[in-house]
Amino acid sequence: MTHILNADLHCHSVVSDGTLHPEELAQRAKANGVELWSLTDHDEIGGQDQAIAAARQAGLPYLTGAEVSVTFANVTVHILGLGFDHANPALVEGLRQTRGGREQRARAMSDDLARVGIPGVYEGALKYVGNPELISRSHFARYIVEAGYSTDTNAVFRKYLAEGKPGYVPHRWATLRDAVGWITGAGGVAVIAHPGRYNLTANEEFALFSEFKAHGGQGVEVVTGAHGPADYAKYAGFCSEFDLLASRGSDFHSPTESHTDLGKLPDLPGSVTPVWEQLAARFH
Ligand code: AMP
Ligand code: MN
Ligand code: MN
Ligand code: MN
Repeated sequence: MTHILNADLHCHSVVSDGTLHPEELAQRAKANGVELWSLTDHDEIGGQDQAIAAARQAGLPYLTGAEVSVTFANVTVHILGLGFDHANPALVEGLRQTRGGREQRARAMSDDLARVGIPGVYEGALKYVGNPELISRSHFARYIVEAGYSTDTNAVFRKYLAEGKPGYVPHRWATLRDAVGWITGAGGVAVIAHPGRYNLTANEEFALFSEFKAHGGQGVEVVTGAHGPADYAKYAGFCSEFDLLASRGSDFHSPTESHTDLGKLPDLPGSVTPVWEQLAARFH
């Protein structure tokens, strides 16, 4: 296995909050020069069979994937699972439970937004939802743009949907222990997604990495769409400090919304061990 590989191990389809189907993502990844791909829908593995088949069709090596929503120290963090058995019953059931509260949360968000003068957002967002079990803030953002309250989805998050804004409804997701346990129990590797995006103090971040390791987590996303060069360097350092494998993924959601396309990322820093070196036996 080569160290330098155009791996993209983080993206979303219509099975969660992306706008492309797994087949379209496989073709786009292949066209962009991706050499190892994973579809990592939020709290959902319903697209894995399609992704495996489409990757095979495109001649693209594939790892199963998911991005699990976790509440840690009252902050939402995302844990990627890679290379697991997607038929594993505990994983399937854990993800089903994690998706469970989204409907109720969406209705509460919609009620709150109606109070600040934006009515009908729940019904409007449903037009963008590809999976009834997975209504997400991204679907809300797309409708709020359509309805003319904002020019782009990033602005919607800043004005309405980010923590502390009028449409933000706190939610309790899976525990870190459970999320890591479901992934590793199904033969996969757990990876902390985009750590540079969380608003954690240095002490909280140290606690996240320490507890993640203690639960059996093995990787951290070093190169990803939301990270810049300072993040690449910082989390490459965390790889040696915490003895973690490094992952790389665009977090691509949509051709019109995402600024990082599939496979269009810098290489991992030379000092790290890529997560795919641990997963060679799990390739499809
Ligand atoms: P949810 O799981 O419903 O809370 O939605 C989280 C998703 O919203 C993330 O995976 C991103 O796709 C999107 N998101 C979160 N924050 C932002 C932001 N500031 N700008 C654009 N999209 C965001
Ligand atoms: Mn998303
Ligand atoms: Mn995420
Ligand atoms: Mn993501």
